[in-house]
Amino acid sequence: MTNTVPEINIPTGAAESSATTAVITFADFGLDPKIQKAVSEQGYNTPTPIQAQAIPHVLAGSDLMGAAQTGTGKTAAFVLPIIQKILRHASSSASPARHPIRALVLTPTRELAVQVAENAASYSKHTDLRAAVVYGGVDMKEQVATLRGGVEILIATPGRLLDHIGSKVANLSQVEILVLDEADRMLDMGFLPDLQRIIDLIPAQRQTLLFSATFSPEIKKLAQSYLRTPVTVEVARQNAAADTVKQVVHMVASADKQRAIVKVLEARTRQGLSRQCIIFTNSRLGCAKLSRALERDGIKAGAIHGDKSQGERTLTLDAFKSGAIEALVATDVAARGLDIPSMPCVINHELPYNAEDFIHRIGRTGRAGSKGDAIALVDASEKRLLDDIEKLMKRKLDVQPLPEGSPSLSPASSRSTSRSESPAKMSDPFFYKPYEPSAAPQSSSVTNSEEKKVGITPARPAVGALLGGFKKK
Ligand code: AMP
Repeated sequence: MTNTVPEINIPTGAAESSATTAVITFADFGLDPKIQKAVSEQGYNTPTPIQAQAIPHVLAGSDLMGAAQTGTGKTAAFVLPIIQKILRHASSSASPARHPIRALVLTPTRELAVQVAENAASYSKHTDLRAAVVYGGVDMKEQVATLRGGVEILIATPGRLLDHIGSKVANLSQVEILVLDEADRMLDMGFLPDLQRIIDLIPAQRQTLLFSATFSPEIKKLAQSYLRTPVTVEVARQNAAADTVKQVVHMVASADKQRAIVKVLEARTRQGLSRQCIIFTNSRLGCAKLSRALERDGIKAGAIHGDKSQGERTLTLDAFKSGAIEALVATDVAARGLDIPSMPCVINHELPYNAEDFIHRIGRTGRAGSKGDAIALVDASEKRLLDDIEKLMKRKLDVQPLPEGSPSLSPASSRSTSRSESPAKMSDPFFYKPYEPSAAPQSSSVTNSEEKKVGITPARPAVGALLGGFKKK
């Protein structure tokens, strides 16, 4: 780690590479002064590694596959060059015909769509370009009005976009740049047919950018179908995890997991550590139940899952960010794409069915060089899942008893602490060095811009505003 390590959520490996590579600045990209001004107002001093790598390629017109997760600055990595490329179409005319959709960003979740749209609105605020977001689960009326008025940059979840296309409110015939953001998650969520239908409506003569946390065979197939000789940029390996994260497994019977969480949080309080944590669960029902049960145990908890309305999710997230909620109980899909600041602690109430999701979950802590704890509560029935995770991470996880003061819990499993590796390995509970620097220039001297985001306030009136377009100033 270098002392230029930013407070922004950059994967550790990416930040590490900054010591050996030249620092490049936003000025090096030759962005229009209107964009440059917006970037400065965001408080961004230096491009993040994914920005340093991707922006020149996007500006040059290449198709691109970017391996990067939320928290790496990937949104600006595609939004900034997109604005630059379509700026020539910017028009102050009020006529909708002068504002066709030029860039389309598809995202798996409404949260991610909203975040991308907020970024697009901020970065384009000194231009005449318009950005808007459409997603399902809310009334269509306001979105229809915005689309009818004309927008150049549209951020959308696939299903709702198809609804608008079906009712002839959205027309993709003038799209020049298509972004598939978190493409792996879109495939996981079964959006492939929707994606195919949408992409078929976009001119073949376009630039396509695909961002994904992993490059699974399915993603590669998608890229083969829709991208032309793409450049690949990568800021962290798919099975990377920050080496500042201390991982521990507690073997706990399912019935005792909620009490175990209380004990873990009590122990953290005794040690003077923050109680702020994200607790991951596998189901919406389990998520809601656990949140309520923790509340009954005196822990300020809130749930975020797919059955919650957009307004409820926003309120919960804001309460969590302000500290009014200390335990955010979440499902993978709901947590995906959320710009949650680095967490001191991530707790797996149960292990995910997909080992890669475990990496995403624990990636919520230990960001940008800060220390974090990743705690997994594992029942005997989850042994196979634990094996899969250990295989993916190429290491055994350290099994420890629950912290002092734990109530006597039911016998959890046959898997005792003695399964741990040699004492030498035990004293080094961290990962292998995960990052392989690429040849491309990188830098990571950035500042935390969380509070500097334009248009995002804790008491977000934006929920209403976000249903439609973003008006300039
Ligand atoms: P993203 O991965 O796009 O969700 O971005 C994660 C966070 O980093 C967001 O809060 C961005 O506003 C912030 N960010 C993006 N680029 C930079 C930069 N170059 N310097 C500082 N913060 C940035």
